[in-house]
Amino acid sequence: MKDTNLSSLTGYQLKEKLLSGELTAREAVEGVFAHVEEVEPIVRAYLLLDREGAMRKAQELDSRPKRKEGLGLLAGIPIAIKDNMCTSGLKTTCASRVLENFIPPYDAHVVERLKEADAIIIGKTNLDEFAMGSSTENSAFKLTRNPWDPKRIPGGSSGGSAAAVSAGTALMALGSDTGGSVRQPAALCGVTGLKPTYGRVSRYGLVAFGSSLDQIGPITRDVRDAALLLQVIAGRDPRDSTSADVPVPDYLKEMEKPVKGLRLGLPREYFMEGLNEEVRRAIEEAVKVYKGLGADIQEISLPHTPYAVAVYYIIATAEASSNLARYDGVRYGYRAANTQNIIEMYSRSRVEGFGREVKRRIMLGTYALSSGYYEAYYLKASKVRNLIRQDFSSAFEAVDLILCPTSPTPAFKLGERLANPLEMYLSDVYTIPANLAGIPAISIPCGFTRENLPIGLQLMARPFEEAGLLQVARAYERETEWHLRRPEL
Ligand code: GLN
Repeated sequence: MKDTNLSSLTGYQLKEKLLSGELTAREAVEGVFAHVEEVEPIVRAYLLLDREGAMRKAQELDSRPKRKEGLGLLAGIPIAIKDNMCTSGLKTTCASRVLENFIPPYDAHVVERLKEADAIIIGKTNLDEFAMGSSTENSAFKLTRNPWDPKRIPGGSSGGSAAAVSAGTALMALGSDTGGSVRQPAALCGVTGLKPTYGRVSRYGLVAFGSSLDQIGPITRDVRDAALLLQVIAGRDPRDSTSADVPVPDYLKEMEKPVKGLRLGLPREYFMEGLNEEVRRAIEEAVKVYKGLGADIQEISLPHTPYAVAVYYIIATAEASSNLARYDGVRYGYRAANTQNIIEMYSRSRVEGFGREVKRRIMLGTYALSSGYYEAYYLKASKVRNLIRQDFSSAFEAVDLILCPTSPTPAFKLGERLANPLEMYLSDVYTIPANLAGIPAISIPCGFTRENLPIGLQLMARPFEEAGLLQVARAYERETEWHLRRPEL
């Protein structure tokens, strides 16, 4: 019997096995679904599994006559998609009652790209409702658990994607990141998560949350897989007017360059109160690894950091309140029954359809945009956002990349932060600034706490410098083995 347990392979390694004929795509899919049956009852990462679709694609790949030449970059790799990206013919719920039965008639741009690259789509993963949250507990449908400790949250909002990759029920996944939702769950689940530059990846078919902040990014088992997946999804798409017409480099090649002589900045403001001691120590150890590789380490300052969370919760909620106005029960989505008139129909549909956190955001955002308050909140927040952006441009004159923790703490317990939204919002202090500035950032595993919980290291770079990010992340990965650890389930 062939070993079809793929839970220790990366996507890249699996593809090599498929190309050499050691494994067929069908065997890969069967292996993944066998593993799903074992661990999904514990982890609960998926809202939908598409076994039939995956088998169909696998058989089609196996039956191609000229196998090697004709295959796409992601040929045969089982991949999971966060359930806020449209998949033609497959439910896309955003983990909300409002979209519980929504079946999109089209694919998101990234999904089209995955299909063209011959990836095998396994299913749709759980998230906080409309991607609003940091623990995946705001899902209307289920709680996802951290594969390293099922009593803990997987992070959020792309918690399902990160948990699936960590547990081995997908070899790669897509997440979306508005304030940290790719990087924070990646850090908490011990996998790699990359948020590209705003505009690097088309948002066409991504259900909008904060349109000036949202980006889709890879969640993978190592940096090489992140490069591979980014290669497939990056690039201009005329259907998203904010997608940039900037050439896409060969990430896999660029990534292998040495880091000797590169200047890495440690922002003072990211190492102050609130940072867990074990996380701090792991980051300090990582800095030593970079020193050993010949990188030049400097302390820097990003002085407007203390305002980032407040600015984010004005801008993101303002944009959300406008984006979510479309869920009125008229064209699609949930409609309340037995209403007497149109106003009651709108309002009851929204009252019944949205969860607590989404309503809180809509109210905050509507308030921040309302006349008389617009100048005091939204306009002021936009100005401070510019200052935050300028902090980064000045920092990038002195250093090439910025190094810091991804999350101030490791994964917390289910339920622990639900009563206090502010505490939950603070989970993203270190990830939000990159969204406000539009710059790329990656989280990679850099250690474990005494309780065996993963810790993530974050790197940030200049706009469109994903190649540099991958290069510096990859250099660390070559020196360490944190990314090879798998949870015991
Ligand atoms: N946790 C942040 C929020 O709730 C970020 C979410 C995200 O990036 N989608 O807004």
